Amino acid sequence: MIKGFRGTSLVDFPGRLAAVVFLGGCNFRCPFCYNVDLVLPERLSRLKDLPPEEVIKELKRRENFITGVVITGGEPTLYKNLLRSFLEVIRSETPLDIKLDTNGSQPDVLESLSKEALLDYVALDFKTSPSRYAELRGDFKAIEESLNILQKNQISYEIRITAVPAFISFEELKELLPYFKGAKLVALQRFMNEYERLAPEKDLGVYGPKELKELKLFLEENLSVPVELRNV
Ligand code: SF4
Repeated sequence: MIKGFRGTSLVDFPGRLAAVVFLGGCNFRCPFCYNVDLVLPERLSRLKDLPPEEVIKELKRRENFITGVVITGGEPTLYKNLLRSFLEVIRSETPLDIKLDTNGSQPDVLESLSKEALLDYVALDFKTSPSRYAELRGDFKAIEESLNILQKNQISYEIRITAVPAFISFEELKELLPYFKGAKLVALQRFMNEYERLAPEKDLGVYGPKELKELKLFLEENLSVPVELRNV
């Protein structure tokens, strides 16, 4: 389940110095994904598993100078029970706040983690407009359900959008507008085209700083949620 660990990060948990735990495997196939090693089964199988108890030990060693832990992937919610057990140990044995990064495809997992108070902050991705989720092997109905669960359980969450021109333009953002209400912030991330990605043969385009600012302005004009540009 656990395929990577970073001891400290300043950029993965807003307002926190945090450790990052990477879980392998994903049910989506976003052509722009640069977590190739964590997504493709043949690449994933080459990464060794880190025992959860070793990771907990590392977290405890750092608990005097980090204040959070980020669980990311891949898609961490694919490990329903293992993830819950792992978070229970973090909760009971460390003082760290827990952030989960998710594509939102497993609302039942979010429901159970929320009910057990195992989440302090969630970053939920919007990849493209609801009508285009099938292109990524996803279904926006599940994402909508995840949003409802986060709101119902009063979990603080941000919406993350990677600004890939082939999947996010003004048109897609317009379709997504009804779904931002309730988020703490919207993070619009620059697409980093310079890395290896799942579909290198596809030309997905890349936005420059001016276009990113225009997308940000569009969101700001249409939402009452703060919008932040990242990786620029
Ligand atoms: S970008 Fe995220 S959701 Fe998409 S394939 Fe990669 S890990 Fe999965």
